[in-house]
Amino acid sequence: MSGGNHPAGVLRLHLWACRSAIRGTGRPVRPGRHPGARAGAGCPVRPPLRNYRRGEDLRRHAQTGQCPGGQIPACLHPARRLLPQLRSHGDRPSRFLGGAHAGHHRRGAQPHRKRTARHVPGRIRRLAGIGGNKVRIALAQVWQETHTFSPLPTGLREFEANGLYTGRDILDRTAGVGEIGGFLAAANADGDVEPVPIVRAWALSAGRITAQALTLLEARLVAGLVMALPVDGVFLSLHGATAADGVDDVAGYLLQSVRQMVGPDLPVVASLDHHANITRRIVENATALVGYRTLPHDPFDTGERAARLLFATVRGEVSPTIGWHKIPLLAPADRGSTDEPPMHTWFDAARRMEQQPGVLAVSPFPVQPWLDVAELGWSAVAVTDHDPAQAQQLAAELANQAWAMRAAFWDIRRLPPAEAIRQAAAAPQGPIVVADASDSVLSGATGDSTCLLRALLQQEIGGLALVPIVDAPAVEAAINAGAGQVITVPVGGTLDRLFGQPVTITARVEGVAPAGMAAAGPWGSAELGRTALLSVGAIRLLVSERRGFGGADPEVYRRFGVEPAQAQLIVVKMYFNYQSLHALMKGSLMADCPGLSTWDLRQFRWERAPRPLYPLDDLPDWRAG
Ligand SMILES: [Zn+2]
Repeated sequence: MSGGNHPAGVLRLHLWACRSAIRGTGRPVRPGRHPGARAGAGCPVRPPLRNYRRGEDLRRHAQTGQCPGGQIPACLHPARRLLPQLRSHGDRPSRFLGGAHAGHHRRGAQPHRKRTARHVPGRIRRLAGIGGNKVRIALAQVWQETHTFSPLPTGLREFEANGLYTGRDILDRTAGVGEIGGFLAAANADGDVEPVPIVRAWALSAGRITAQALTLLEARLVAGLVMALPVDGVFLSLHGATAADGVDDVAGYLLQSVRQMVGPDLPVVASLDHHANITRRIVENATALVGYRTLPHDPFDTGERAARLLFATVRGEVSPTIGWHKIPLLAPADRGSTDEPPMHTWFDAARRMEQQPGVLAVSPFPVQPWLDVAELGWSAVAVTDHDPAQAQQLAAELANQAWAMRAAFWDIRRLPPAEAIRQAAAAPQGPIVVADASDSVLSGATGDSTCLLRALLQQEIGGLALVPIVDAPAVEAAINAGAGQVITVPVGGTLDRLFGQPVTITARVEGVAPAGMAAAGPWGSAELGRTALLSVGAIRLLVSERRGFGGADPEVYRRFGVEPAQAQLIVVKMYFNYQSLHALMKGSLMADCPGLSTWDLRQFRWERAPRPLYPLDDLPDWRAG
């Protein structure tokens, strides 16, 4: 598997030997069973711990730095290689106990094992919390949508720029926003849940996560979990279409790390973007999976629903079983809005299935398509209460429904750029949002396409046109010139070398923001860096060093004294997630520009995706089951 190529593999394999011994989960690693593992590298074998509180011993081990029995933890030595990196990011050395590999695997759609004691109604409250009355739930988010053809790598800096928090900082900074906000709202409403925040790492969509960043994020997740143990359950907010250098399936990789840390029985529920690429490793290591219900997305609500399912599982009220099916299908998000057919039809079918007795959650997963990885394809996932056959049947039914509608998902209706501008300018009332979906910063594109800017420069429009563009050198030029000055600069095309083309403009610098700015969106904030507002006729060009939310946050323009509600046309660099503009916009159009998130998937060179795959290949017959 791809995980074996990960530079952290050595660390992970060494730690496996130690962890299996510390946890008392069975045997020390045998040479040859896991390549690279060394006999004798681990701690002495302990007898199996008798219940789910096994984490207490592991936590004590991490705190004292000693194996049970007082021996030096040889298993930790490889981890120390990375201590300087972790220290530089503010982690305490004692918290560093990262990595996991192998160990427990849950095969197939097995029911989550019920803990008998918790099914005695009178005892639930007493047993539901460990060392107190409240249920302790570990809470973590590692979220990024990967575009494997994007030229922008995703390093740790990209996570730090958009909010990399640990511990209580998570509660303070994410309340009310995104999946974690939803989880906290559910915990608050429940009243008997103690959130145990571990790590929150969110990065804007871009290329693969670097190996170093993944190593550090995994270390923070696993070490934080060790320090938090014992817990009653784990809530993980993941995107699900995330790849790293050497790891095609980061969501499965992290779920497996968590599963091996907490053992096979502890409930681990993951919320996922519905553009996730569901893999066998994801399914085998999660107790339940809950995907977004809508596009525009609903991260807060999804976090809430996943949390409620987790709480019920922890208390033994339900016993989730997962059924799933891959579908050999790809499609861009053009027809992805869940407000209209065909995507509405497919998601509505899932909602109807959820009305059936014993069905806990049904999630369609139309994967984001610019992802050249193993196991690529759409998926259908059903979670039922202790009924794997029902889960599998519903997943197959949902998969077949998507396949039957496959042509409708490819009904592309974009307008040529000039026509999109003409129609938006001619609308009786603005603002009209013109989506440059091919340069979608929420799909991993660079946000520096000049396609719509060129079309605007060639037309007269009556009202203001707001256009975002990423261009660090142009920002530098504007700041050097200062507000009120006129500059002639090339803009755009600095990052996307495949589709990008700069255009030279002469513009007035209306304002500059020399300090870093951030844009707000459904998941929190995204960094814009230094910014400048340039004007060319009726065009207001927001030039930024980084991508923010692709011009979808009206506050960004307001900081420069421009009110988006009074504009005729607002360009956004995304498909549909401009919820922040809904209250003020009067309509929307999608333009057909070239760009990294183009609908035309044949423009990319596919190497890792499984074939055949519709519509890249001719695949007339397929059926789930
Ligand atoms: Zn999505």
